[in-house]
Amino acid sequence: MPEAAIPESASLEAASPFELRVDLGERVSDAEVRAALASGDLGFLHSFTTGSTVDGPGVRVVAWTTGCMFRCLYCHNPDTWKMKNGHPVPVARAAEELRKYRHGLKLMLGGFTLSGGEPLMQDRFAVKLFTAARGMGIHTALDTNGLFGDRLSDAELEAIDLVLLDIKGWDPERYKRLTGQDVEPTLAFARRLAERRRTIWLRYVLVPGLTDDTGDIAKIARFAAGLGNVQRVDVLPFHQMGRYKWEKLGMSYALGDTKPPAAQLVEQTCEVFRSAGLVAY
Ligand code: SF4
Repeated sequence: MPEAAIPESASLEAASPFELRVDLGERVSDAEVRAALASGDLGFLHSFTTGSTVDGPGVRVVAWTTGCMFRCLYCHNPDTWKMKNGHPVPVARAAEELRKYRHGLKLMLGGFTLSGGEPLMQDRFAVKLFTAARGMGIHTALDTNGLFGDRLSDAELEAIDLVLLDIKGWDPERYKRLTGQDVEPTLAFARRLAERRRTIWLRYVLVPGLTDDTGDIAKIARFAAGLGNVQRVDVLPFHQMGRYKWEKLGMSYALGDTKPPAAQLVEQTCEVFRSAGLVAY
C-alpha cells in the first residue's frame, strides 16, 4: 500500500460533497495509481457522507469517488474530475467505514451508494467495495454516467442492487457538447442492465436552455419505458451550489447566468416521463 494512503486516524467524512477537495492524493505516484486501478486495493475518494435520502432507497451512506472522464457543463463537483484530488483510501479502510453503519442502514431500509465523479473510472475498487458491502448485507447502488458500464462483468453486476443511471441527453451532438463524450455507450449499458434484469433509477438533470428540449426528453422517456427495468425517474433541477468550485479552481464556467428551472418546468418534464408510462419525481 502506498505510504501516501490516508492515515488511519484521518476522517473520511464530509458534511457534503460540495466541500472543495484538491490534491489530497498528489503524493501517490503515477505507477501507484496504475497499480491501484488494476487491483482495486486502493481507491481515490472525495469523501463519505451519511444520511442521504436522495441517492437510492432509504437512508444512505455515500462514498464520492474522484476521477471523471465527462466534462459536463453543469457539473457541480468539478474538483472530482481529477482522481488525485481525492484521498487515497485502502479498500479495507473504506469497507470498515461501511461496517460502522451497517446496522443503522438496515434499520432505515437504506444502504450504500457509490457516486462521484464517476465510480467506474475505478471499476476494480468499486467491485471490491460493493462485494464487501454485500458481504455485510448492505443494499448497494451505483451512481454512474454509464460510459464504462462494459468494465463490469455480468457476475459483477449481480453485486449491485440498483443502478442510478444518468442519461444526460438524447441527441448525440447535443450530448457531446454537454458532456464531451458519446451517448451510445450509456444507452448500451442501459440495454444490458435491462437484459440482466438489474433495476435502474434514471436521473435527468434539467437545465433551462440546455437540457429542457421536450422532444429530446420524450425520446429518452420512450427509450427508458421500453427497457422494462426503469423503476423511477428523478428529474434533478439544476442549481448553482457548485459554482464557487469552478471559480476557486480557476475554470471557466459557461452557466454562470443560468437560473434553476421553475417548478412548472420541472413538473412539465416529469409529465413527459409519466406520459411514457414511467414513475417520475
Ligand atoms: S458525469 Fe458527473 S462528475 Fe462527471 S462531469 Fe458530469 S456531472 Fe460532473
